[in-house]
Amino acid sequence: MLTTYRGHVVSPRADGGWDDWPDGRMAVDASGTIRDVGPWKLRRRGGRTVDLRPHIVLPGFVDAHAHVPQLAACGVHGSSLLAWLKTWIFPLEAAFRGERARRGAEAFFRESLAEGTVASALYAAAWPESVEACFAAARKAGVRAIIGPPLMDVEPYRDDLGRPRGWTERLLAEATQLCRRWHAPEGRLRFAFTPRFALSCTPELMEGAAELAARFNAPVQTHLAETPEETRLVRRRFGRAYVDVYRRAGLLRRGAVFAHAVWLKDREWHALGEAGACVAHCPTSNLFLGSGTMRWRNGLRVALGSDVGAGPSLSAFDVMRASIATGAASSPAALLRAATRDGAAALGFPGGSLEAGGPADFVVLDRGVIVPPGAPDVENTQDMLSRIVHRGSRAAVMATHVDGARLHQRSFHR
Ligand SMILES: [Zn+2]
Repeated sequence: MLTTYRGHVVSPRADGGWDDWPDGRMAVDASGTIRDVGPWKLRRRGGRTVDLRPHIVLPGFVDAHAHVPQLAACGVHGSSLLAWLKTWIFPLEAAFRGERARRGAEAFFRESLAEGTVASALYAAAWPESVEACFAAARKAGVRAIIGPPLMDVEPYRDDLGRPRGWTERLLAEATQLCRRWHAPEGRLRFAFTPRFALSCTPELMEGAAELAARFNAPVQTHLAETPEETRLVRRRFGRAYVDVYRRAGLLRRGAVFAHAVWLKDREWHALGEAGACVAHCPTSNLFLGSGTMRWRNGLRVALGSDVGAGPSLSAFDVMRASIATGAASSPAALLRAATRDGAAALGFPGGSLEAGGPADFVVLDRGVIVPPGAPDVENTQDMLSRIVHRGSRAAVMATHVDGARLHQRSFHR
């Protein structure tokens, strides 16, 4: 059975432009695939109609970098990265096990859907059981997710690892097992080999992770050049530039997601681009920890990340506005594209746009929140995109759908 949604349909196109149909329609089949999208007056007959007018139908958001166990730390304890990790975050992750992990992971995806996010690249805690809990919660929620345990064989917070000699092998063996169990490239869930960052890893662990990612054709994600202090320590320990540490380990791979990339030289930025890697730009987090401002250059794909819990919320709207506030980006259209189409492409997921043949991953935004009283009924596309970025919020997200299924519905009405 075909369901046709009628509303104001807005979606980024492959050619860099935007589709914008104030009285638009999107027909979705029973499998959750978009069959047809365009102006209402050119609709095909048949099936049922869901009238969403005057509200806005937009592709759902993609969060290219966040930490599931850190949701509880959002908005408190701001300090510098390395002190914050040690004092607040590692103890929080160390406790993310058992029932706490199960409940925490389920709460995370509820929050994420309420913010309009349909797909994410996520770090669990270092315990395999926390990875299991995150995958189980993502499957239950029905979202798309890339998930991995942050691999750490330098000062790990796990107390079950025994003598340091065997840590690297054990962590790689556990990751292999988790990958075999959960990695499903054709489905909504994928396992990611996730060296936490260079300072948490021996070269052997990073190399092992890169080899396994190649063997299983699985994604890689890590942090890169978030703060000056961290970047200096990496150079001191490894004797080379940050990107070259990862390159040497084999981690500069197509589809690899590098979070932050604030303190990079042009040469390093271009090396990422040549490898086909992408950057998860996390401006709310960079503001909160005082890490600096990423310089957004051409030559590689930039997606957006909430970086919860350094980022104070899972809201793509907050991330887009922080990018503008810090001067990293100036164009609402470019940010909205990064939060949808480019984000999905960066993570290798379908979706990110509303097109025939793609999955019906979309949000319904309340026009009453986005457009102020007195504004013209119909306005040009750039103005509409700007209003979505500058006036959007969780309160505007009326519903969130993945593969056509409504996974979240706003529980109050204005
Ligand atoms: Zn992070």
